[in-house]
Amino acid sequence: MALIRRLQLNTGTVKQFSGILQQREVHLPSFVYDKAYVDGKWVAATSGMTFKVLNPYDGKSLGVVPNMGEEDCKAAIEAAHAAFQEWQNTTAKERSMLLRNWYNLLVKNENELAKIITLEAGKPVKESVGEVQYGHSFVEWFSEEARRINGEVLCSPVKSKEMILIKQPIGVTGLITPWNFPMAMITRKAGAALAAGCTCVVKPAEDTPLTALALAALAEEAGFPKGVFNIVTCDRDNAPAIGKMLCESPLVAGISFTGSTEVGKLLYKQCSQGVKRIGLELGGNAPFIVFNTADVDKAVVGAMASKFRNCGQACVSANRFLIQEEVFDKFVAKLTEKMQQELVLGSGITSTSTLGPLINITQTMKVNKIVEDAVQKGAKVLLGGKQAVNVGERFYEPTLLTNVNDSMTCYKEEIFGPVAVCIKFKSEEEAVSIANDTKRGLAGYFYSNDITQIFRVAKKLSVGMVGINEGMISSAEAAFGGVKESGIGREGSHHGIDEYVYIKYLCFGNL
Ligand code: NAP
Repeated sequence: MALIRRLQLNTGTVKQFSGILQQREVHLPSFVYDKAYVDGKWVAATSGMTFKVLNPYDGKSLGVVPNMGEEDCKAAIEAAHAAFQEWQNTTAKERSMLLRNWYNLLVKNENELAKIITLEAGKPVKESVGEVQYGHSFVEWFSEEARRINGEVLCSPVKSKEMILIKQPIGVTGLITPWNFPMAMITRKAGAALAAGCTCVVKPAEDTPLTALALAALAEEAGFPKGVFNIVTCDRDNAPAIGKMLCESPLVAGISFTGSTEVGKLLYKQCSQGVKRIGLELGGNAPFIVFNTADVDKAVVGAMASKFRNCGQACVSANRFLIQEEVFDKFVAKLTEKMQQELVLGSGITSTSTLGPLINITQTMKVNKIVEDAVQKGAKVLLGGKQAVNVGERFYEPTLLTNVNDSMTCYKEEIFGPVAVCIKFKSEEEAVSIANDTKRGLAGYFYSNDITQIFRVAKKLSVGMVGINEGMISSAEAAFGGVKESGIGREGSHHGIDEYVYIKYLCFGNL
């Protein structure tokens, strides 16, 4: 904490959210600021406008942050562009060491960061600690990968020539991130971009800017030069203009976006004008298949983790449980029991709750509408089925639906809530056909103990990631990404760097 205090002294303009949470008997960590971070300075919006950050648990304000507009975004892009002129020439070792410093600070402040995530995103603090550990694992990973962005010496087909491929950073990157993993979605992108020698302008979601600002405070403390890592905060109304500017500015070389498929498509279109590099991590509609040979107990444990983490608000959440007929009743009975035993709604700050609120009212209403649509069309509600208004406005009861068919929204679209939907199938072909009957293709899961089936089904699923007898698949070492309308490119793994480098071919002639 001494380092953090020094940071505050060094940045005289920084104002803390002092006391804001004292009335609510919770305290925000001391490095949560009410200013955005541009060109190494903590700044207000030029308009002076701010917006409130709400605690989804009770809808109360945690404080305000700058509601930046195009002028502020332009300044951040220019700062990132100016910083890139030096940053691109740093050595891989220098970048690696700064990333390592940042990682060490993120580890040191793990609990404080988790508290910020819980307060603004609503997830139980144990899950927030999990996100912080997942989030900083990308900074650690890319601090190591930074040292291995090697080129290639090719075998020339002619004696008089030598041919070499080198990798160079693309330049300024615009990183647009969602609220559901407010730390990890930033570090998964920024870790790779910074390792490659790019500079960043990050636009976090309206719902979760505080985590982003805390990351910036620790990045500054780690020693990143001014302008290398910038955070532009804005509300939902200003997001389209900021996004457009990031996509269309000639000073920005590439965009990396995580969020909805709808917004992803818009950004893709906007990037086409300048033929920008673009990485898209979009929505999913994950099938979770349980075959007759599966260990049903293990499948239920995997189902709970995959479905109810972050209250179902994860792009890789199981969206449709496809259960083979012989084990259908057993699976549904055991899942019902586990849901009743393990899911406790409440404030994420308390250690007893395992299921937080949905992020905002819009999301709560969306989930409600999806369940109502299913019920109207004949779905059977085994558990839940309505808002848990006794706990809070944004809470939804853990819900289990059967008798689901392809006319229902919950069959076709990402639910993004604590609603498990079970569909019975007869054959492997039928399961694969239902699983692939969607425009999305992010993650898929299946449980089977038939080795021949395991290889067959793993290859046939039209998704970017497959969990086989496993419900939790994310890791810095793995290549995260989807196929079809779930996105373009991969994050994490050594492939995560590819988004941020150009390959340049050097041909040495007349040798
Ligand atoms: P979203 O509405 O697309 O928002 C994501 C980000 O884009 C936010 O920062 C948002 O700002 C911003 N944004 C919204 N409209 C924009 C526009 N016109 N131009 C530029 N930026 C804009 O998505 P969400 O509802 O926050 O997140 C849920 C979706 O993200 C789900 O579909 C989920 O599957 C997907 N997701 C995917 C992954 C993955 O890795 N594939 C991971 C997590 C989530 P505001 O918050 O201010 O609106």
